[in-house]
Amino acid sequence: MSQLTYHRALEILENVCIGCSHCMKVCPTEALRVSGGKAHIHVEWCIDCGECYRVCPTRAIRVMDDDFKQIFEYKHRVLLVPSVFFAQFNDNISRDKIYSIIGELGFTEICAVEQSVDTLLLEENEYVKNSVKPAISSFCPAVIRLIQVRFPSLVDHIMRLIPPIEITAQYYKRKFAADGIPENDLGIFYLTPCIGKIASVKSPVGGYKSPITGVINMDFFYNKVFLAYKQHIPITNNVVVSKELSSKGIMFPVTGGESVHIEGRTLAIDGMNNVIDFLEMLENEEVDGFDFLELRACDQSCAGGILCHRNRFLTAENMRKFAATMPDTHTLVPEYLSHCSAVIHMDEIEPRSMIKYDRDIDIALKKMEGAKKLRMLFPGIDCGACGAPSCEALAEDIVKDQAEINACIFLRTLFEKRGEITLEEAVKIMEKIWGKDRFSKEI
Ligand code: SF4
Ligand code: SF4
Repeated sequence: MSQLTYHRALEILENVCIGCSHCMKVCPTEALRVSGGKAHIHVEWCIDCGECYRVCPTRAIRVMDDDFKQIFEYKHRVLLVPSVFFAQFNDNISRDKIYSIIGELGFTEICAVEQSVDTLLLEENEYVKNSVKPAISSFCPAVIRLIQVRFPSLVDHIMRLIPPIEITAQYYKRKFAADGIPENDLGIFYLTPCIGKIASVKSPVGGYKSPITGVINMDFFYNKVFLAYKQHIPITNNVVVSKELSSKGIMFPVTGGESVHIEGRTLAIDGMNNVIDFLEMLENEEVDGFDFLELRACDQSCAGGILCHRNRFLTAENMRKFAATMPDTHTLVPEYLSHCSAVIHMDEIEPRSMIKYDRDIDIALKKMEGAKKLRMLFPGIDCGACGAPSCEALAEDIVKDQAEINACIFLRTLFEKRGEITLEEAVKIMEKIWGKDRFSKEI
């Protein structure tokens, strides 16, 4: 069996990884390194954004979702479905058909994740009035973690409100309890369009505990439903579907679908690089006057989620078409307010800033100074030949004893020229980073 590098929502399959470093080059928190010819994730720095998963050419990065079969351990099996899921299908496949196939696959009850959005928006508008400005939406888990890790000074701007998936799950937990269903009989499952939400359900921020039993990969489930549709499986179940949903709920997971309902000066930004650029401006106090920011890591927000099957623009278009057929609000809002108002707020969110050098401040300062000096020795072209994503990252690794100075190909060439290391030693260093196999090929 292959040796696995474990990470909460992602793992790298070492026997599939070819050490191409594509993942390392796109990681927004420099959480990846290559050594021994394989990529490795630094767990503390990873924000579960999935950018590495998108670019891996060999599918060596695997999503750590839950086993679908576990749903059968529960008598009542509720599936919370995000509105992007239905938008994966062509118009000729009706929602009712999809509901009945989902029932046939084993679920006893289906509900839209965004049923809670109407209630959440009421809370958000109240929250924004009294919060640090700009308040930053707590919807996108990758953005929350990005701020915790890379922009710790902005953590206080993140709204202390749980996202729609958690409010809906709380509602169902309470509804089933009120109906006298024993907790052990109820399994609440969430179909996720992104890996960030797997991590956020398993380890939520803000001292919150999720009632969600398991998270199912949307890409996997789409294929399962589509195959069942193609095979014309007979429908024998009576799955219960809660169809209460508003147009604002449907559009909430798409860019602009949240900010448009918040009072004051708001902005909606999507795409990891755009979000980072804006947060840098905010941190440097180059922008002000905003009441609310909707920041989403994926282009087109959840329509561009990593586990979505369909083109993100077609997905968003499909959602807009469906939203146009739905009412502005739905009838369950008062019930949601009475069941969930008490749990919508979460505790403080802690920064998870990289303790880059050491927990001891004196040692950390010395190491930081050392890294600064080292950086000046390096060429500053961020070539990645050392197995680190940038010259700065290599300097940090060296002062932490996680790399050696001669990992830098420029300095190594200089050392060779001066006769300080031999050619054989230089090759060994390259083998250590990029793997022996790369150097054993016949030319
Ligand atoms: S992208 Fe990363 S995980 Fe995928 S093969 Fe290349 S080095 Fe390995
Ligand atoms: S999920 Fe994102 S933060 Fe984590 S290793 Fe991949 S690219 Fe980096």
